[in-house]
Amino acid sequence: MPKKVAKRFIEFKRGETLYGILNRHGFTSHHSSLILKQNPLPKGLSLSNGEAYRLRVSGDKKFAEIKIYDAPKDLSYVFWRNGSAAGSLIKNEPFGIKERVVRGEVRGSPLNAIYQKIPSQWIAHRFMDAYTFDYNLPKRLQRGAKFKIRLETKWDGEDLIGYGEILETAIELGSAVERRFYIRYPGGGTFVDPGNSYADRPLFAPVSYLRVSSLFEARRFHPIKQRKQPHLGVDFELPEGTDIFAAESGRVLRSGFQRASGNFVVIQHKNGMESYYNHMLNIAPGIYPGARVDNGQKLGEIGCTGYCTKGHLHFAVKKRGRFVDPLRYIKNYPYRSQKLISLNSEDL
Ligand SMILES: [Zn+2]
Repeated sequence: MPKKVAKRFIEFKRGETLYGILNRHGFTSHHSSLILKQNPLPKGLSLSNGEAYRLRVSGDKKFAEIKIYDAPKDLSYVFWRNGSAAGSLIKNEPFGIKERVVRGEVRGSPLNAIYQKIPSQWIAHRFMDAYTFDYNLPKRLQRGAKFKIRLETKWDGEDLIGYGEILETAIELGSAVERRFYIRYPGGGTFVDPGNSYADRPLFAPVSYLRVSSLFEARRFHPIKQRKQPHLGVDFELPEGTDIFAAESGRVLRSGFQRASGNFVVIQHKNGMESYYNHMLNIAPGIYPGARVDNGQKLGEIGCTGYCTKGHLHFAVKKRGRFVDPLRYIKNYPYRSQKLISLNSEDL
């Protein structure tokens, strides 16, 4: 490697592709083909508007290295060229973690308010995930509501390269303050509400890490999203291969493969409820029509079969024959052994 290598961070532009970035920094089609031959591009790699990648270039420009971070997963993707040689690698590197507390006020949408303070779509969406079970939160939110977020920042040496989990959130709703705490456990993690276990809800979450990528939308035409079809379930975005669990005990009504749903399972529960699991990678042995399942039993794994662009579970709930918003009916599995380490009642 040449002696003098300059380092800087560059923000992704909207709609940018990896090839565009490589091209801009002097990677030729010869370099790109070497990279592609060696290592197919990672499926989950996302170039997020507002986030940055690291560029290192030698003084004579013969060497260049682009490093794209997936901070939440402690991964980085490195693409390099040196003369006519080129290559890429995926690095698993536990980044340095520091905690930070951010405070602000909601003006406009909560997502925007958070984004103003922390320019990360990941964090803004994780904040909404923290309130997954509070379907009426946006309605209760008033202009000027104060919020606080305690979160992990991730560091590559001395460089801030992204964010990890939100550890604690608080937001003013009228005269109340709604707090959520993140607890980790093997294979997952979840936001809990210290004041409410949602014990009266009839179903459990079908995955152990709740990350919502698409909400239930019953209207036939959504004027903002211009979506012509209703979305009669909720999408949980998770890596392929992650376990999917039965939301309650019951009996398998249907299972198999359909062109749109991919691998799917439908379970019939008590009280006229049914739960649907679509786009599964596979269906676990013992899950077939007529089979009895226990709550929390593994049904299969997250996949992207059927009409699907990225690994996720489309989870739907029917109550007395009609699809309802699943987020109003599910609760976390009870992780009673986990104590809330950071439970404090400090003000906003
Ligand atoms: Zn869906």
